[in-house]
Amino acid sequence: MEPFSVDGGAFESVPFQIDGGAGDAFMSVPFNISDPFAVQEVSHKPPEPVKTHPYDYDLFVIGGGSGGISAARWAAELGKKVALADFVQPSPAGSTWGIGGTCVNVGCIPKKLMHYSGILAESKHDMQMAGIAVDNATPHKWETMVGSVQKHIKSLNWGYKADLIKLKIKYFNMYATFKDAHTIHLDNGKTQDTVTADKIIIAVGGRPQYPGIPGDKEYGITSDDIFSLKKAPGKTLVVGASYIALECSGFLTALGYDTTVMVRSIFLRGFDQDMANRIATYMENHGTKFIRGAIPTKLEKPDPQGKIHVTFDQSGELKTEEYDTVLFAIGRYALTKNINLESTGVKAESNGKLKVNDLEETNVPNIYGIGDVIYGMLELTPVAIKAGKLLAYRLFGGKTEKMDYINVPTTVFTPLEYGSCGLSEEDAKAKYGAENISTYHTEFKPLEWALYKARPEGDCYVKVLVNKLENERVVGFHILSPNAGEVTQGVGIAMKCGVTKELLDSCVGIHPTIAEDCIGLQFTKEDNPDAAKGGC
Ligand code: FAD
Ligand code: NDP
Repeated sequence: MEPFSVDGGAFESVPFQIDGGAGDAFMSVPFNISDPFAVQEVSHKPPEPVKTHPYDYDLFVIGGGSGGISAARWAAELGKKVALADFVQPSPAGSTWGIGGTCVNVGCIPKKLMHYSGILAESKHDMQMAGIAVDNATPHKWETMVGSVQKHIKSLNWGYKADLIKLKIKYFNMYATFKDAHTIHLDNGKTQDTVTADKIIIAVGGRPQYPGIPGDKEYGITSDDIFSLKKAPGKTLVVGASYIALECSGFLTALGYDTTVMVRSIFLRGFDQDMANRIATYMENHGTKFIRGAIPTKLEKPDPQGKIHVTFDQSGELKTEEYDTVLFAIGRYALTKNINLESTGVKAESNGKLKVNDLEETNVPNIYGIGDVIYGMLELTPVAIKAGKLLAYRLFGGKTEKMDYINVPTTVFTPLEYGSCGLSEEDAKAKYGAENISTYHTEFKPLEWALYKARPEGDCYVKVLVNKLENERVVGFHILSPNAGEVTQGVGIAMKCGVTKELLDSCVGIHPTIAEDCIGLQFTKEDNPDAAKGGC
């Protein structure tokens, strides 16, 4: 399995481009905390820094991912002297990439583009019904997709570098370790450097875990490798049953690859289990295979040119299957082990994560943590970006707003997307009492699906959880549908404003859309467990 080399180096021929999506840590209009809707003049000439301490920099950021770049960018906009180090150590399979962190290189961006590719592949039936010629005989060209995705990623890497220069942020493409709480050692294998800083933000993110079984690193890959694989993955085993496992197996299946998911216990731990099981049913009906209640115990490749033999334990029975690719998606650990935290006094938990307070302060006063490195918080790009911005404004802009980690909307990009905001049904009932929660729900079929009649009824489903004790305030929203992410973003805003069921229903729907199916839900699960719904 030979991944593309996507080094952060030579991007000269790639035009300047800034992604408009979640990796948008460099928005062209600065955010005004006191009035987020105010449009300001863009200043490409940050004020000259005024030094109030003996260190080289006002701020040093370790990690050039979603959170780190955001914090560095806003600190520089506020006139501070900022440096940032970003360095990617190759995965066991040899993959490496440029600046921008997980989201841009091996996360949200390539994932969403491959998810979209999967949707295109799944639309073939609809296209035929719409009279659009479809070639069903030619198999998917993996190399073409990966080439297009990687080209886009390189343009983003280039854009980030250009913006660091524009903002006068000193960029070290070097691995950073602490010498003490104000001193950073930098090393790229060829040269070394030492710098000091008044404040330091740890935004090192994480990397995928391996199960620690024989052959895992030799024959297995992770999300660090899949998006740049040079050859089509072929028959693939995906180990894990959460976000990454289901998203990757979803697009692989949709693109026509024989894909099996090995599930240890439940789907999407922490999410609404009714929704999680509906996703699994949908995926199974669309060709993804599942091996339930199993964990791999060893990977072997008796013939170097042949398949990977996977031995697994299913309910105490050892079995073996053969695959071309084995993808581990079993969680991530934070990258703090080798940065010499001991020299600073900052304490890390066993998974490498840092416990911070609500100001993102570690136990050492001048050292902060944001993004995936934070213990017990959501591992999501917009969370890291926003936390970085708010931290910079608190440190250097005189603002006090804290990051709100509650009611953060999120979407699992399985082919049929699952959007969620607020509490799962289980958590809502545990928090407020089952008798105080009403679950309004319905199944529905998007109009677009009418073209291809063979699509089953009931795949799309929405439920709105309300707390009867608070005038039916919406405490949980869950939708399984195409473009669920777009719908959930809007409902997330309403939930931030404390929307009640009555207010939700007072909004006039847009017809014919999926979003209108979230409005005016009449039946509760308690009174009407059958969520089937009629037409227009
Ligand atoms: P990162 O983006 O991981 O950046 C940390 C950077 O620091 C890396 O470049 C790392 O190499 C570098 N670094 C580490 N140690 C050092 C050091 N000592 N010196 C110098 N540099 C160092 N989130 C979403 O919101 N939506 C999605 O759709 C989504 N999809 C995802 C799909 C996948 C497959 C994965 C893996 C993640 C996905 N995420 C998604 C999560 C998202 O990517 C992360 O939450 C986000 O990237 C975290 O940002 P961060 O700044 O904390 O860390
Ligand atoms: P998670 O930690 O969410 O899930 C890990 C999965 O692997 C679980 O299903 C777990 O099963 C299983 N597992 C753990 N250890 C083993 C093992 N030894 N053998 C077999 N199975 C095992 O990790 P992910 O890698 O899926 O995602 C990491 C994070 O990245 C997410 O939490 C999310 O915040 C972020 N992300 C966000 C996305 C988005 O916004 N769309 C997309 C992708 C990632 P069990 O339940 O039994 O413990």
